[in-house]
Order: sequence, then structure tokens, then C-alpha cells
Amino acid sequence: MTPVLRVEALQVEIPVKTGLLRAVRGVDLDIRAGETHGLVGESGSGKSLTALGIMGLLPARARRSAAQLRLGAVDLLALDERAMEDVRGDRVAMIFQEPMTSLNPAFTVGAQLTETLRRHRKVSRGEALERAAEMLTRVGISSPRTRLAQYPHQLSGGLRQRVMIAMALLCEPKLLIADEPTTALDVTVQAQILRLLAELQRAMGLAILLITHDLSVVARVAQRVSVMYAGEVVETGAVADVFARPAHPYTRGLMAAVPVPGKVRRGAPLGTIAGVVPSLVGEIDGCAFRARCPSAHDACLRLPPMRSVGDDRRYRCHLPPEVAEARA
Ligand code: SF4
Repeated sequence: MTPVLRVEALQVEIPVKTGLLRAVRGVDLDIRAGETHGLVGESGSGKSLTALGIMGLLPARARRSAAQLRLGAVDLLALDERAMEDVRGDRVAMIFQEPMTSLNPAFTVGAQLTETLRRHRKVSRGEALERAAEMLTRVGISSPRTRLAQYPHQLSGGLRQRVMIAMALLCEPKLLIADEPTTALDVTVQAQILRLLAELQRAMGLAILLITHDLSVVARVAQRVSVMYAGEVVETGAVADVFARPAHPYTRGLMAAVPVPGKVRRGAPLGTIAGVVPSLVGEIDGCAFRARCPSAHDACLRLPPMRSVGDDRRYRCHLPPEVAEARA
């Protein structure tokens, strides 16, 4: 089946004073219809820039290149900015940690929802308002007519998040990119928003690329996962496989850093991976994780290969599968 999104060898480079910051280094991703694909990694690993690169929303001085960047049959690399604007909000939409990134404080919720709809669909203002109210109901907002007349600052954080989701899904996109959508919310609202996204996904057959640093969120809602480190995907596969038997030492380190209820002493410091991420300015010699890796050896001075395990599982490391498996 053709994936909803195919990304091959995506690069994002940003000129900085000290040289060329290679923030995204050859990322491959395939996202299928109806699935949630988690993209995880520490801050600065390139997750958000990967998303912005797909959306064509990078800062002006950033440069994007890729071997393939396709949304269904549409070649995103061939689109100019105007054509990309038509695609954004229609076939692909993005939501952020902070809803005010998407919502304009100066306009009512109704004005913003109807403008989004009328930009992409030929509908009258009355019809657009009708559909906006329906969508607010669909995302669990009561009294939608009242909410349409309100400004974003009159809503709670959880409601603003729901409005942002409603705006993203108004045109029924094929793909939703969600960048840390629940990080700023308390645990109860976080659970509600994740449940809502799962319900909408089932109803609309939506594919979701879920960017998060929270492995427990991925474990709860995603079917597949890609782990990013220093601008590269270092491991990818079905969530159940990757989390049960992480092959890449970085994935193992990330998982070991997650506190396990009942096994962590109260007040004990949260687990971390020792060492620091290498500078992303210029080339990195050999494996980018080398300085932090407990399994590093001489071969790691060379760029590690992407190894396949089965049909759908890959990891970038010199350790062969049987050794990686034994260490999992
Ligand atoms: Fe560790 Fe070497 Fe594998 Fe890199 S290639 S993750 S340094 S074992």
C-alpha cells in the first residue's frame, strides 16, 4: 500500500556563524493510513525540524533537500510556496504544544475556523460556521455557538487545544503532524486529548506523526516508532518490538531513563544518558552516539550501517542483530 507520507533522505541545514548546522541528516520515514507513528528523541535531536521540513515551514535561512518527499501522490518537493499553502491545512495539518502558535489572539474562534475552511473549500460564510460548530462538537466542545464567538484567551488550555485540533481537522486531512501536543497539559487533560485524537483517527482514517519526548505516550497510542539522535533516525519499527527489544544502544538508554512506578526510589534522580550530544555543525565522524555508547568499539569510528531485522525493523549500528538482541 502506498504510504500517506514517504520521506527519504531528508536533510535540513542551517548556516550558523561557525559553519553549517546539519540539524536533520538523511531521515527516512513512511507513515501509513490510519496509523500513529511516534517520532521520539531528546530535545535538539531534530524531531521538530523534521516536521517543519515536511510541512515546508522551516525558518527562511534553513535549506531543505530530500531524495523523496511525497504526500500520497503529491510530490511536495515540486511545489512552490503558493501550492504548498494549498496543501497545508487541507491534506496535511500540524498541531503544536502551544495552541497559540496556531490561534490568533485578535480573532474569534469562529472567524479563524471559518477562514481556514473557506481558504480550502468553496462554502458560504453561513455554511462554514455550521461546519465549524459541528467540528467543535466533534472534538468534545459543548455550546459550540458560544465558543465560536469567543477569543482564544477566554478558553482554558485544554479547550484551546481542542479548538486547535478542530481547526487542523476541518478539511479532513490525510495526515496530522502533532508536535508535543500534550506536553503542556496536566495528566488528566493529556489523557483526554490523546483519547480524542485516537477517536478522530479511527473515524477519519487519519495518519498521525506524533512527535514527543515521552515514551509512555508513544507506548499508549502509536503503532510504529522512529527514534532520532543527532539528526538521524537510529531505530525504527513496530512499537511493541522496539520497546520490548530495543536494538540500538541509544534506544536502550532512553528506555532505561524512564522511571518505572514501584521500581524507582522516591526522590531518586531521574535516569539520564551520560555524556552530551555531539556538535551538529559540519560532519560527524563515525557513529554520532559513540562518545555516549557503552558498547562503542573500534569499528564505531566508521559510519554504522542501517541494519534490517525482519521486514519492518531497522537500526543504525555496527552491532549485529544477535549481539544487539543479547544486550536488549
Ligand atoms: Fe554504539 Fe558503535 Fe552502535 Fe554507535 S555503532 S551505537 S557507538 S555500538
